[in-house]
Amino acid sequence: MLTKSKYLIGLKCPKYLWVIVNAKHTIPEAEDSDKLRFAEGTAVGKLATTLFSGIDLSELDFKDNIAKTEKSLKLKKPVFEAGILVDDLFSRADILKPVEGGWDIIEVKSGTKVKPENIHDLSFQKFVYEKAGLKIRKCFLMHLNNEYVRKGRLDVKKLFTQTDITSEVEDVVDIEDRIELMKGIIAKKACPKLQIHDKCEHPYKCPLMSECHGFLPTDNVLKLYRLGKKSFKLIESGIYAIKDVPDEFKLNSNQEIQRKCARSNKIHVDKAGIKSFLKKLKYPLYYLDFESFNLAIPPYDGLKPYSQVCFQFSLHVQDKVDGPCKHYSFLASTGDPRKEFLVELKKVLGAKGSIVVFNQSFEINRLRELAELFPSYSSWVESAVNRVVDLIVPFRSFFYYNPIQEGKYSLKKVLPAVTGKSYEGMEISAGSDASLEYMWITHGLPWRKKATEKDIKRVRENLLEYCCLDTEGMVWIVDELWRIV
Ligand code: SF4
Repeated sequence: MLTKSKYLIGLKCPKYLWVIVNAKHTIPEAEDSDKLRFAEGTAVGKLATTLFSGIDLSELDFKDNIAKTEKSLKLKKPVFEAGILVDDLFSRADILKPVEGGWDIIEVKSGTKVKPENIHDLSFQKFVYEKAGLKIRKCFLMHLNNEYVRKGRLDVKKLFTQTDITSEVEDVVDIEDRIELMKGIIAKKACPKLQIHDKCEHPYKCPLMSECHGFLPTDNVLKLYRLGKKSFKLIESGIYAIKDVPDEFKLNSNQEIQRKCARSNKIHVDKAGIKSFLKKLKYPLYYLDFESFNLAIPPYDGLKPYSQVCFQFSLHVQDKVDGPCKHYSFLASTGDPRKEFLVELKKVLGAKGSIVVFNQSFEINRLRELAELFPSYSSWVESAVNRVVDLIVPFRSFFYYNPIQEGKYSLKKVLPAVTGKSYEGMEISAGSDASLEYMWITHGLPWRKKATEKDIKRVRENLLEYCCLDTEGMVWIVDELWRIV
């Protein structure tokens, strides 16, 4: 049987399709961030159905769902998750809505726009329903409206927007051929041998990456900065390691630095570039980092779908190069943390001196969103924004490059590259983990047990330790850059 989700997997990769049907047990368990995405998708889907008065078949098992679908369709009412099985093809649309002379398919997604995979999703469903004899008039994607700003009670009608994608769906050709091809792949005795490709990480990261990409060396050509599809051409021609990329293969200046470092196993340093960055720093320095979470369904007033909510900051203040630091931190407890976050930040951010952040757009955007919500803080926020200096610059500009960065310049890669220290061994070692853990202890996560007092205490300690390292790490990096020049 080919379901819609398997069809979409088949479009991504025949090997993944074969494995999900024939060797599902070998697929690693989904990561917590994926589980959150699935849980949010389910919640959004359920919320969308409250806008229709219909028959809900979502909780039924496979057989009951098919049997009840047949009966429900006769009632000419909207049906949620109407399951149709025809010629080994199975489709179950989120909402099937009766219209003059037929049905409209409405697929609910937790994204904020139509994506190419949504067109394929609907085209498969339309194909299956029509094969079973239903007349499909139009296809809609019902997705979150990124213009909606919550004010008071959640306005479910305004939270969603429906986009008519019938013509895009009808433009999809060769569905039948693709289905036949996929059925053939599923029926094969052995997993198809396949080269890795540019869809392994797009539109989402394949769970089989560690297995399929395992043959590549650590410093492999996929890590050449922004080389894109050309890196797969190198792999096809048998060139896996950056050091082996031939001289005649054209690289841009940053990629050239990577190749030079890979061959010499040495660090690249552009002292003039680093000096030009350090000149921008005005002591005392305020090293600042925010942690936030975001949810598809905005939990508080003033938020759009997926707006970020800051719940924690860490601040290290240093008066002179290599001098001692004072540390300040804030971690919200429960409820809407935004006002308290801003009040506490204003108390400790001083009036002059550079505010050093890593990847400034995140902190600047969060500050400006808070100023919009609390206008009495707007002039203070603008003066703070004008003091921001972005520590990512020397690394994004490749003024400093260590091969262990593997073509990346995030703080998690730069800290060990410059100082030899890292986040290894910490309970929380990434921003996405910090948001998840915070959400667990404040809002709960559907796949985890309720956090106990002990859990809350432990997670809060871990959060404080993690965010503190983000800003302390920046202090060490800047001190090291001074030493280098
Ligand atoms: S990692 Fe790539 S090649 Fe391997 S199964 Fe996934 S998509 Fe296919």
